[in-house]
Amino acid sequence: TRYVFDFTEGDKDQKDLLGGKGANLAEMTKLGLPVPPGFTITTDACREYLALGSEPGELRVQVTMALRHLEDDAGRQLGDRHDPLLVSVRSGAKFSMPGMMETVLNIGLNDASVKGLTEVSGDERFAWDSYRRLLQMFGKTVLDMPGEVFADALDAAKSAKGVTSDLDLDVDDLKALVATFKEAVKEHSGAEFPQHPREQLDMAIRAVFNSWNTERARLYRRRERIPHDLGTAVNICTMVFGNLGDTSGTGVAFTRDPASGKTGAYGDYLANAQGEDVVAGIRNTLSLDDLAAMDPESNSQLRKVMRRLETHYRDLCDIEFTIERGKLWMLQTRVGKRTAAAAFRIAAQLVDEQLITLDEALSRVTGAQLAQLMFPQFDPSAQRVLLTRAMAASPGAAVGRIVFDSPTAKEWAARGEAVMLVRKETNPDDLEGMIAANGILTARGGKTSHAAVVARGMGKTCVCGAEAMLVDAAAKTVTVGATVLGEGDLLSIDGSTGDVFVGQVPVVPSPVETYLEQGLETATQGVDEETADLVRAVDRLLRHADSRRRLGVRANADTAEDAVRARNLGAQGIGLCRTEHMFLGERRGLIERVILASDAAEREAALAALLPLQRQDFTELLEAMDPLPVTIRLLDPPLHEFLPDRTELSVKVALAQAAGKPDPADVTLLAAVERLHESNPMLGLRGVRLGLLTPGLFALQVRAIAEAACALAKAGRSPHVEIMVPLVGSVMELYLVRDETDGIVNEVTAAAGVDLKVPIGTMIELPRAALTSHRIAEAAEFFSFGTNDLTQTTWGFSRDDVEAAVFAAYLEKGVFTVSPFESIDVDGVGRLVEIAAAEGRRTRPDLKLGVCGEHGGDPESIHFFHRVGLDYVSCSPFRVPVARLEAGRAAV
Ligand code: PEP
Ligand code: MG
Repeated sequence: TRYVFDFTEGDKDQKDLLGGKGANLAEMTKLGLPVPPGFTITTDACREYLALGSEPGELRVQVTMALRHLEDDAGRQLGDRHDPLLVSVRSGAKFSMPGMMETVLNIGLNDASVKGLTEVSGDERFAWDSYRRLLQMFGKTVLDMPGEVFADALDAAKSAKGVTSDLDLDVDDLKALVATFKEAVKEHSGAEFPQHPREQLDMAIRAVFNSWNTERARLYRRRERIPHDLGTAVNICTMVFGNLGDTSGTGVAFTRDPASGKTGAYGDYLANAQGEDVVAGIRNTLSLDDLAAMDPESNSQLRKVMRRLETHYRDLCDIEFTIERGKLWMLQTRVGKRTAAAAFRIAAQLVDEQLITLDEALSRVTGAQLAQLMFPQFDPSAQRVLLTRAMAASPGAAVGRIVFDSPTAKEWAARGEAVMLVRKETNPDDLEGMIAANGILTARGGKTSHAAVVARGMGKTCVCGAEAMLVDAAAKTVTVGATVLGEGDLLSIDGSTGDVFVGQVPVVPSPVETYLEQGLETATQGVDEETADLVRAVDRLLRHADSRRRLGVRANADTAEDAVRARNLGAQGIGLCRTEHMFLGERRGLIERVILASDAAEREAALAALLPLQRQDFTELLEAMDPLPVTIRLLDPPLHEFLPDRTELSVKVALAQAAGKPDPADVTLLAAVERLHESNPMLGLRGVRLGLLTPGLFALQVRAIAEAACALAKAGRSPHVEIMVPLVGSVMELYLVRDETDGIVNEVTAAAGVDLKVPIGTMIELPRAALTSHRIAEAAEFFSFGTNDLTQTTWGFSRDDVEAAVFAAYLEKGVFTVSPFESIDVDGVGRLVEIAAAEGRRTRPDLKLGVCGEHGGDPESIHFFHRVGLDYVSCSPFRVPVARLEAGRAAV
């Protein structure tokens, strides 16, 4: 097996084998850009090493050969005592991964070669500074020593001398530091710092391999859904030096601004420094403009390279570079990460520059980014004081007064206070407080912690894992550094960035939301050019998505108001109207009469009272969507949901009886509640079962729908209504409902003299329905996949209870990487969808297929629904733009 590839051999498409860094170093080498010579050890080698527990023999040989090549070309040998070749060792997995070992520079330096480096560079201070750095990085990353050991010694050296900058330490100080560091290494690892260059190299390579499996790296992979079996590559690269005096330096740069998406390069530079100094923030960095003023020649080389990279990758690139005595060297590049706003703006810019097509632009933005841009935001022009920055767990901008426990959150919220629940971490007992709070902030836990999972489920803003924050719930204080806040103090959190601000930062609606609701013109008026540019980019890409997508996008809406909102956001119809929402509030009394009726006449009277109300509901809804299709689902939940709570009522009746004056109405009601009680209502008398067993109930709804539609048709409108039957498991159920429904529709349309087609279809939300879909399609003109219930019944997960109780642990243990209620479980639930789609269409080739569970608004699920050939997805109104974009992306 080949485990080692020279930089001159690979290219950017070999990320699986060479890792991201290695593949891009090879690509830059191929382009003729100034990359120091080097080679990459493959991810195969890493996997082999991890399986064997030691490096395969062949790998040692291949490293020797590659190293000798490097040495021969350079005319120097690794760690030579007169003219040493030095190398860097850097990890590079397919995806960049915090938690992995990063970099060891200056491998090859030892007590002898540090003198050689002095000779050839003519700079003794530089040589000892490099040796000091090697010890520090080697100790930290290879030997796993705490970084403070070195940082503290460095600080001590500076304060002993009364200076603040590393640059003020002279040769003798650095020699003394080297001695201190070596001592620390010996103390910590029980062995001397390895003087042999090849041993240094081998140890560093092993450390990179081992870092693949650290707890932090595993955790990160679970969170980001990166497979555990990829392994990492290792890059060995000839050292070039940014710490060779003032004509040397090192920096990072972006070819466009990754925060705002503005055109024009942007970066940070540090003179007389090595790589880690820039990110460590020990000295203030300079801008690229400063570099241009200091060193115009290097700056112009750098600009040329950046332009070349953008042309080549046709995207924003970020780079790391070093200037060694006026000569530019490229150490890394990749297609750079960017904010949601930058993603849209850059994609549109690149189309304008004719570097990419609109289809490509569409593939470079995501529904998740669009969703982020739709949340209200902190007023960008407002003053703010950053308290800390942590994990962006659930997006939005929330402001509230600090409370430390759930009961207080509830109590304060009940009196109209906006509260921010601040906890070390949350658990299921905090649920009520989380519901009451505007936002949730925790000190511990990541994106799969209880707080994060539950907050996302509730659509509540959440920042978690703010480790700089000390929460003392007993003392009711939260401390970050010198800042101490107490109960009632105002706090603002940004769930899209993870920022936590002291006090109240004003919130404004997002310009993208304004655009989506009110159009381009309104949204671009009176805003700065950057914002207008963003809105125009979103408009352009969304319109392109609409022109490309094959999936229709409908909304789940139960009221005319929601329907109008959905329509403004681009919905092409209603895919699910949940009629149970029409039986709540004041109407509850009427449905109670239906349930409690002692004979048929009484029940019919109660149903008759509901008829005009339902007719009005449907009229409004159909009017709002006219002429777009509206799928109305007949009543789904069990009847007991419309009756009072069993426990409360029993207590009330018992107390009244004990007092000797029982209320007969309550007694009757309690009897009905008892009669209808089910231990497992989700699997009980609901959906089509309820319709078949409650005479007149579905008939009432069907009549109201037909009458509403006929009246609108007669008034010259074009109602397009579809009736949907929930929870069907057998075609017989559907035949029974169909017969009755067809009869009523025919009767109503004939009486009205209107020629109106009302398609009748069913939800597919039980495994049996999916598996017998070839039969069900005999009686259904359309299927709509109810993936909420289908997930519940396929997994046997109670959708109401399981998320808080089980999912945080399951995500942690890696049973799944995302809640199956959030993103469709392709292998299980998805398989049922595929089967039902295919077999349903075999029976009825023009069977219309849609989905109306939550998954209809989830990006990954939308791509799946596109692949299996559904006709439309239906989702909450506010997800409609996301669904439009993702359906377009699925099609290009
Ligand atoms: C479903 O089960 O996916 C569905 C849309 O119906 P409901 O959520 O109302 O049960
Ligand atoms: Mg359902």
